[in-house]
Parts: sequence; structure tokens; C-alpha cells
Amino acid sequence: MILGPIHMAYILAALLFILALAGLSKQETAKLGCLSGMVGMTIALLATFAQVESAVGFILIIIAMAVGAGIGIYVARKVAMTQMPEMIACLHSFVGLAAVLVGYNSFLELGGVAPETITIPINATADEIAALLESAGAAAAGAATGMTVGELNTHLVEIFLGVFIGAVTFTGSIVAYGKLNGTYKLRVFKSQPLMIPGGHWLNLGALIVSLFLMIWFMASETPSVAPLIIMTLIAFAFGVHLVAAIGGADMPVVISMLNSYSGWAAAASGFMLSNDLLIVTGALVGSSGAILSYIMCRAMNRSFISVIAGGFGNEGAAASGDEEMGEYRELKCPEVAELLKNSSSVIIAPGYGMAVAQAQNAVAQMTEKLQARGVQVRFAIHPVAGRLPGHMNVLLAEAKVPYDIVFEMDEINDDFENTDTVLVIGANDTVNPAALENPNSPIAGMPVLEVWKARNVVVFKRSMNTGYAGVQNPLFFKENTAMCFGDAKKSVEEIVANL
Ligand code: NDP
Repeated sequence: MILGPIHMAYILAALLFILALAGLSKQETAKLGCLSGMVGMTIALLATFAQVESAVGFILIIIAMAVGAGIGIYVARKVAMTQMPEMIACLHSFVGLAAVLVGYNSFLELGGVAPETITIPINATADEIAALLESAGAAAAGAATGMTVGELNTHLVEIFLGVFIGAVTFTGSIVAYGKLNGTYKLRVFKSQPLMIPGGHWLNLGALIVSLFLMIWFMASETPSVAPLIIMTLIAFAFGVHLVAAIGGADMPVVISMLNSYSGWAAAASGFMLSNDLLIVTGALVGSSGAILSYIMCRAMNRSFISVIAGGFGNEGAAASGDEEMGEYRELKCPEVAELLKNSSSVIIAPGYGMAVAQAQNAVAQMTEKLQARGVQVRFAIHPVAGRLPGHMNVLLAEAKVPYDIVFEMDEINDDFENTDTVLVIGANDTVNPAALENPNSPIAGMPVLEVWKARNVVVFKRSMNTGYAGVQNPLFFKENTAMCFGDAKKSVEEIVANL
């Protein structure tokens, strides 16, 4: 095996992954970022192939890749943009499961050898030490695994932690998948948080018991699979409970957190397989996911620590979409077009409904028509609008809306009061004043786009249904708000025709 070129390839791939992350942080450079990641992954795959020593191994990898790629291409072509978050959660669960399987495989490869504690006299000669090791059986362990006692212990820790993180990521991601999908009847898959009494103590108990199991795992004469299996079952349950306890509106943080966990699970697999590139890549995903979770927490005014502990301290806050809030006003599309013609400034606040309706191209057309009439048009993007971080930015970029009229919430939130008309296109939770006005609301404390401060607000949606968090929206009942019912794409197209 030639190590030089392989290590060079690994370093190059790792650099390209870092460039990919840097590129993806800005819309203008995102495509270049994707390209860097793809080239890096190709180099990493080629370097991995170059290390396969047997023809059978090579053929098995090719078969596994062909099957995996086949399923991947089929699913990727079929999946709608709105199902992407579920797909990502599903992919995270695979990374977690892979870490569990790699962990068990690494354990089985050890073949039950035991690290033995022996006492070596301070003045022992090399021959005496070798004899002592042999008599204690540790030399046998070394022969079987090619490791010293210290290395073997480190490897056992890697296995234990890798399986733990992988198992939590696996079941946590499955619950996230169910919550994002929203069609499953099981209670854990509902968007409302599942708060078990004393749930945080249960989480703490699971961690403490797992710690004792690790001590048992490490201290046994012959590493036993029993503590590993018990810990895996606890970690599976821990993952379910951790994510089930989190309410709908807080799911974005969970997704980035599971993204981070899947990175650490991959890094743990890298340690178990002694693969430097997997360690580096896993650490990059793990740390960037953690940074994203932190940014999301700040954007949503949540505590990072309570996110990691699961549950956000939202005990008692219950979602209700049935509150009576009074009368609402309705406008038809031609009337909205008239209102826009008489406006000199317009802000568009898109949300998940724009993605469902695939209304982005119609919205871009409407923007051009309004600009041609001399109307100032800008977009206000909430950090968790849609179902993915950056979801709205991706859709607007796809429709070729210029970046310089797209603003983040913090940049534009003060401008609503000087704006003639705000068009809320398929957004709901992200424009809900209850987040600021009702301390008992499940979304209390989350910063929102303060659209109601504009002179006129038009909300595009199909019904009076609630948003993802299941909370009724007082915005719809304000005097300066009008509802424009129907599929957002059809409504905006009709407005374009009337402009
Ligand atoms: P919401 O999910 O709160 O609301 C979307 C609205 O769109 C609904 O009220 C729905 O009303 C309307 N809608 C759906 N389809 C259409 C259509 N075809 N035409 C017109 N309207 C439609 O959206 P927001 O973007 O405001 O909020 C995102 C929510 O998702 C937040 O709670 C956020 O926390 C959560 N989330 C975000 C993630 C992220 O990373 N961004 C990840 C996971 C969750 P109706 O049915 O009446 O049409």
C-alpha cells in the first residue's frame, strides 16, 4: 500500500470539503461550494478504492455502491423540494445506523480478547517484561489485534461512544423524519412536544447508566457484548425521547443538531476504522452542524444548552389552533393587484406555502412587473421559514430573484412600518405576533417578521388552518390584514395577469 499519495489525496479532499463549507455560506458562491464538495468526495472515493487489497473486496464495494447509488438516484429524482427536510433526516439516520454497525463490527473483530492489568517491577529487563506480558495473555491480545493494551482500551472507548452517538442519531432522526412528514398517527411523530413527566431526569438517568455500562465494558476481563447491547437499547430510547420532546416550531434546531450528531457519529466511525479522512470529514460536519444549531438557537431565541438536553424548557406550552379570534377580511386577486398598483413600497414575506405551491417563479414575475411600475420590492426572509435552513433563499435564487433585494429578518424588520403593502406568501408561524404577545404560546420568544406594522398586509393561503407549530395566528384578524385564499401559485399568477 502506497501511503504517500493516499495521504496527499486525503489532505486535498479535506481541503476541498473546507472550501465547500466556505462556498456554501454565501448564495453567490454556493454552486462553487457544491462543486468543491463533489470533487473532494470523488478524490476521497478514489483514494479509498486504491487501498482495497483484494479483488473480492473491490467487487463487493462496487456492488454496494451501485445498489446505494441506484436507490439514491431514484429517491432524489422522486422527492419533492418540500420533502427535502424529511429526506435529510432519513439520511442522518443512515449515518447513525452505519456508526452503530461499524461499532459492532469493530467489536466482533476484536474476537473477545482481553486487556489484562499486570504489575511490572520498576527494574525489570525487557525480557522479563515480555515474559510477564505473555503470561498475562496481553501479548496474545496484541497478536490478535495488533494493538497494545492502551490502544485496545482506547479502541473500546471509541466503539462504545461511536455506538452511543450513532444509536441516538439513528432513532432521533427517525422521529424527526416522522415529525417533518406530519402524516403518521403515532404520538411521537406529532408536531406537538411529547412531554413525559420527569423527562429531563430520565435523560440524565440514561446518560449516567450508559457511563456505568462503559465502565463495565472496559473493566471486564474479556470485553463483553452485554453492556454494549444494553447501552445501544438505552441510546435508541434516548434518541426517541430527546427529539419527541421538541415541539414543531423548534424543529429547525433539532435538524441542525442531528446534522451535527451525524457528523460526530461519522467521526467516531473514522476512529474505529482508523480512517483519517472520515475523522476529519465527520468533525467538519459535526462542528458546522453545531455552529448552525447555535445560529438557529440565537435566531429563535432558544437556549443552546436546553436544546441539547431536549425539550427547550417549553413544558406546559400547548399548541391550539382552535382559539376564537374574531372576524377576518378577504380580498380577491384583482383587488390585491389594485392595492399593489397603488403602493410605492412592497415587502414579500415568503414561507413554507410558497414552496408547497412552487410559486417562486410567479412571485419573481410579479416582482419584475411591480418594479417596472416603479414600485420598490424587497423580500424578508425569516431564518426558519420553510422546512430547511435557507429554504426560501434557494427557491428565490432558482427563480432568479436578485440577491440584493433579499433581506434577512434582522436587516428588514424595522422597515415594515414604512411600507405600504406586505404580501405574506404561504408563511404563518414566522409572521405570528403571538410569539411576541402571548408568553404561553409554544412559539413564545421566537423573533418573527413584524409584518403587521405595515399599512396593508395580504396573506396568501388556502384556508384558516394553522402553520407547522399548530398555533392560530392573530395576524389574520388584524384590521389592516386581508386574506387572499387559494393556492399561492394560482393567486400570484392571477395578480400578474391583472398588473
Ligand atoms: P408554516 O409552516 O408556519 O405555514 C405555512 C402555511 O402555508 C400554512 O399555514 C398553509 O396554510 C400555507 N400553505 C400551504 N400550502 C399552500 C399553498 N399551496 N398555497 C398557499 N398557501 C399554502 O410556514 P412558515 O414558513 O411561516 O414557518 C415554518 C415553520 O416550519 C416554523 O414553525 C419552523 O419552525 C418550522 N420548521 C422549519 C424548519 C427550517 O429549517 N426552516 C425545519 C423544520 C420546521 P393553508 O394550509 O391554509 O394553505
